[in-house]
Amino acid sequence: MPAEIISGKDLAAELKGQMKAEVSKLNDNGISPQLTVILVGNNPASKSYVKGKKKACNETGIDSEVIELSSSITENELLQKIEALNQNDSVHGILVQLPLPEHIREQKVIDAISPDKDVDGFHPVNIGRMMTGTDTFLPCTPYGIITMLKSKNIPLKGKHAVIIGRSNIVGKPVGQLLLNEDATVTYCHSKTENLKKYTQQADILIAAAGKAHFVNEGHIKEGAAVIDVGINRMENGKLTGDVDFEKVKEKASYITPVPGGVGPMTIAMLLKNTIKSAKGLDPLEG
Ligand code: NDP
Repeated sequence: MPAEIISGKDLAAELKGQMKAEVSKLNDNGISPQLTVILVGNNPASKSYVKGKKKACNETGIDSEVIELSSSITENELLQKIEALNQNDSVHGILVQLPLPEHIREQKVIDAISPDKDVDGFHPVNIGRMMTGTDTFLPCTPYGIITMLKSKNIPLKGKHAVIIGRSNIVGKPVGQLLLNEDATVTYCHSKTENLKKYTQQADILIAAAGKAHFVNEGHIKEGAAVIDVGINRMENGKLTGDVDFEKVKEKASYITPVPGGVGPMTIAMLLKNTIKSAKGLDPLEG
């Protein structure tokens, strides 16, 4: 039987409906959740991601502002802009769209965002909180993936989760969140020898290598849940994932599409984190 498709688009729409009601209640209490996005330069992919984030804010009633800066801005000038937003009480979430021009150090910029406004969940303080299982802003893509798995009640406890990719924004944190859910986690990366040996054991396979159709039916175990994080642009301009969807769906129990899978969930989790911030993050309370 072909796999059940987990539609990130549908789940995100459902969550956005709930968040719209929540924002309306906050508004009644005089709180207006606000997200500020900083976009440096003219990278077309970044522009399109920022546009999607702004649209999603509009749909849920979250105030949003996009600050567009020239790629010639200095690191110091950018850090000063961030500090001004840190000090501005009406701003609840700050997101700097990555990648940044080469002359600006990304980690320096991430470190400059107040951990209490870091709705991307990239600040080392928030990563530390995630590692220790303390309430925090979880990084949006991994948070979206866990939410998708839970939405289908896919068992995680005691299951073997294999992750292809070990980046700071996807691979590493999704492994940590799965570990927090009592899964047994294996990380694979470009230096992994005999990748299939690991992926074929996976009850849950997370593909985040950024290589079009890299994962095929030979990589997976019958009945595995397969989450495709990859976003790859093909020559014809269309987007595709890391997983050969048509072939793998015949063998998996669950699968996510690209587009319409992890992407919309990433944005939904950004909105969730912004609302959480507006409500006042208390790291020691859920
Ligand atoms: P990175 O390029 O930072 O990381 C890719 C990872 O894949 C690295 O750890 C790399 O290993 C590993 N890798 C590359 N080639 C292989 C291989 N042949 N075998 C095994 N592992 C390999 O990418 P990101 O983590 O930022 O993103 C991954 C993909 O997810 C991209 O397509 C990106 O566009 C997409 N993405 C999607 C999001 C969404 O919302 N849907 C959000 C963020 C990203 P090594 O560390 O050894 O180099």
